[in-house]
Amino acid sequence: MKAPCYLCGEPSALEGLCEDCYNKDHPLIEFSTPLSIETCKKCGSVKVPGGWKTITPSTSDDIKEEQVGILLDREIKPLVEGVSLTLEEENRLDRVLHLRVHAVGRSDPSLNEHEEEYPLEIRFTHGSCDMCNRISGGYYEATIQIRADGRSVTDEEEAAITALARERTISAYGKDDKAFILDIMEDKHGFDIVFGSEHLCRRIVEEIELLYLAERKDNYKLVSQERGGKGKYRTTFLLRLPQYVVGDFIEVSGNPCQVLKIGKGGLSCYDMLKNHSFTMSQKSAKKRNVSFIAPASEKRAFTVVTYVHGQPIQVMDSTNFEMHELEHNESTKGIEHGETVYLLRHNDKWHLVPIMQKDVEGEINGF
Ligand SMILES: [Zn+2]
Ligand SMILES: [Zn+2]
Repeated sequence: MKAPCYLCGEPSALEGLCEDCYNKDHPLIEFSTPLSIETCKKCGSVKVPGGWKTITPSTSDDIKEEQVGILLDREIKPLVEGVSLTLEEENRLDRVLHLRVHAVGRSDPSLNEHEEEYPLEIRFTHGSCDMCNRISGGYYEATIQIRADGRSVTDEEEAAITALARERTISAYGKDDKAFILDIMEDKHGFDIVFGSEHLCRRIVEEIELLYLAERKDNYKLVSQERGGKGKYRTTFLLRLPQYVVGDFIEVSGNPCQVLKIGKGGLSCYDMLKNHSFTMSQKSAKKRNVSFIAPASEKRAFTVVTYVHGQPIQVMDSTNFEMHELEHNESTKGIEHGETVYLLRHNDKWHLVPIMQKDVEGEINGF
C-alpha cells in the first residue's frame, strides 16, 4: 500500500503527493495577468521587443484574435511538453479583453491528463508602428519610372507592372518594415512607383528589366549629408520599355517576326520568313539582335481570291484592290477562298501575318 498524500491524506501518486495535489503544485502553464498589448491603429501591427509584428492580411477576419495570438505566443509559457491551449472570450470592450485560458496536458508523464482554467485580462493601447509612421511622414528611398521607347506605356503594361510591384511588396511585408508603396503617379508617357524600401525597389526593377527587356538607367540623388557620416541617397530607376508590344513586328536575327507574348516565359514570336513560332528567354533575346519593324497597325488586310493547290495564292489588297501572289507554305495551310488575311510589307516583300490565337492574346504581358 502506498503512503497517503502528505497534504490531503488521499493515496499518493508521485513525490508523496496525490494526483490532485501534485497537479496543483505543478501547473501546466505560466503567465501574468493583466497583460498589455500595443497595437498600431492604422495597420494592426503588434509591438514586440525590438519592433513591430505585422498582421498578415486575410489570415483571419478577426484582427483582435490575431493580435492576441501574437501576444500570447510570447506570454504564455508551457511548463511541460504537449500542453494544448484554448481561449474563451468572456468579455470584449474597446480596450480590455477578458479571456478564460484552458490548458490540457499532463503535469508528469506518469499522471493522467487534466484541465486547468485561468482568467486573463488583456489591456490594449493604440500607437503607430514604424511603417505607418514612415508612410504618413512621406518617407521613401527609391522610385521606378516606367517609360517606353518612342511611344506611351500601354494600359496593359501599366496594369501588369503595377500588379507585379504590389505582389512583391506584399510578399516582403512583415520581413522588410519599409516594404510599402508610397505613391503611384501617372503622366502622359508613363508612370512612377514610389517605394519605401530601396532594397525591395531594386529587386522589382531587376525583374521588370529582364521581363520586358527594358533599358535601365539608375540615378542617385544625395538628399542629406551627416557631418562625417555617410550621405543619404534616393535612387530613381528609369526603365524604358522597348518600342514593340504584343502584336507588333520586330526583326530577330534578321527575320521579320510578330510578337505573340511578352512575359515570364520569355519573348514569344512568330517568324514570318521561316513560318514557325518560337520562344526565347529574355537573356537570349538580349544576345540576339531584336529591333522594331512596325506597329501592329501596319499590317494590311487582303482578301483571298483564288486558292488552288499547285498555284500561287492570289490575294487582293482590300484598300487599293491590287493583286498579290503568295507561295504555299506552313502558314498558308487552312486558308480559305474569300477569307481575309493580313500581310506585312518588309524589305520589299509581303509576309503573311500569323493568325493570333485567342489564348495567346489573352495572356498578353502575363507574368
Ligand atoms: Zn493530496
Ligand atoms: Zn502600422
